Amino acid sequence: MTDVTRKIHRRIDDLKGDLVDLTVELIRIPTTNPPGENYTECAEFVGNWLKKRGFEVEYIRGLDTPGDSDKFPRTNIVARLEGKRPGECVHFNSHIDVVEAGEGWTFDPFGGEIKDGKIYGRGSCDMKGGLATSMIAVEAFLVEVPDFAGAIEISGTVDEETGGYGGVAYLAEKGYFSKPRVDHVIIPEPLNKDRICLGHRGGWWGEIETHGRIAHGSMPFLGDSAILHMGAVMEEFNDKLYPLLADKKTEMPVVPDGAKQSTININSIHGGEAEGFDGLPAACVADSCRLIFDRRFLIEESMDEVKGEIVSILDGLQRNRDGFTYSIRNINEIYPTMTKKDAAVPRALASGIEAVLNTTPDYVISPGSYDQKHIARLGHMHNCVAYGPGILDLAHQPDEYIGIDDMVDSAKIMASALCELLSK
Ligand SMILES: [Zn+2]
Repeated sequence: MTDVTRKIHRRIDDLKGDLVDLTVELIRIPTTNPPGENYTECAEFVGNWLKKRGFEVEYIRGLDTPGDSDKFPRTNIVARLEGKRPGECVHFNSHIDVVEAGEGWTFDPFGGEIKDGKIYGRGSCDMKGGLATSMIAVEAFLVEVPDFAGAIEISGTVDEETGGYGGVAYLAEKGYFSKPRVDHVIIPEPLNKDRICLGHRGGWWGEIETHGRIAHGSMPFLGDSAILHMGAVMEEFNDKLYPLLADKKTEMPVVPDGAKQSTININSIHGGEAEGFDGLPAACVADSCRLIFDRRFLIEESMDEVKGEIVSILDGLQRNRDGFTYSIRNINEIYPTMTKKDAAVPRALASGIEAVLNTTPDYVISPGSYDQKHIARLGHMHNCVAYGPGILDLAHQPDEYIGIDDMVDSAKIMASALCELLSK
């Protein structure tokens, strides 16, 4: 460890109180999504803090993206600070939205209460603690290395929890996550302080509808039940698709182990009489049944292959089962992404982890996706990882918390990475 790094780490220890205050203040702005509350207030809080440290601050509204309205504007904040010499740009991207609090809390979900070295609240772990950690890491770095090369950016973006279309996707389309503006991206999602998350699996969401013919329920033989047709689809999935997916193995270090293969979840099925009606049902044969699926796939598979497997099962039924017809609707496509272990950002973070925690990092892949998908596909940026404090399992749970000492350690690791990437 160099003298400068040591000084930065000492300064981060001194800033521990500020790190706690910053996290608490962020938690106290309830940015619940949906619907996307208080985004502007939260973005301005982050922007004002960074402006005081010399950053140039921009607010960019994800106009006309899902959920955007004058009541719930999708306000993103992007801040940039130029160094004294030319060099590369390191960008820290955090989402400012949180999921609803839900039931089962013993703490005030938006109170930011502190107990036994932990800060409790919705978003403490996912991921306002990570945002605050990156801000304090940058502050300490700037004091000790005022003549750094390149540039530092910090963004607070919206809607990650609902796909990121008004946030990172919107900005990535406008070039905010591409070269030459940005060279390195760190997303401080809560992946544990000794792990570097290189990317995530892909996904395909779709809806299958089977068609039937309505008739009186007392004479079902006069109709054709769309629900029974969907039952046949489920049977084929059980017999053919599930074993096929279980056999697909990957080189991606996905955690947990169960997600090291391809998976499919049946998200919902609705057929016949609509739900939410509390009178007596009408006697009818179902003429429509809809199933929404959530297929997660590996970097070794292509989108065409993933789609082809399901379509060929449905086409087979159409050939062989009397009266079977279907339609299929595309809902969402997510491409898998995996940054190389030896890219500059994971390397810089790995040496920080070794210096601060005295251990080698674990490299992981997330079973579900996060904003890296947009940075890779729309920004064409493949030097991007998720790294941040917090325990992933606590995300979206009641009594979510972040450990204060974990944040301090992660801030030191982030600052070490800045030293390595911006000191040339
Ligand atoms: Zn998150």
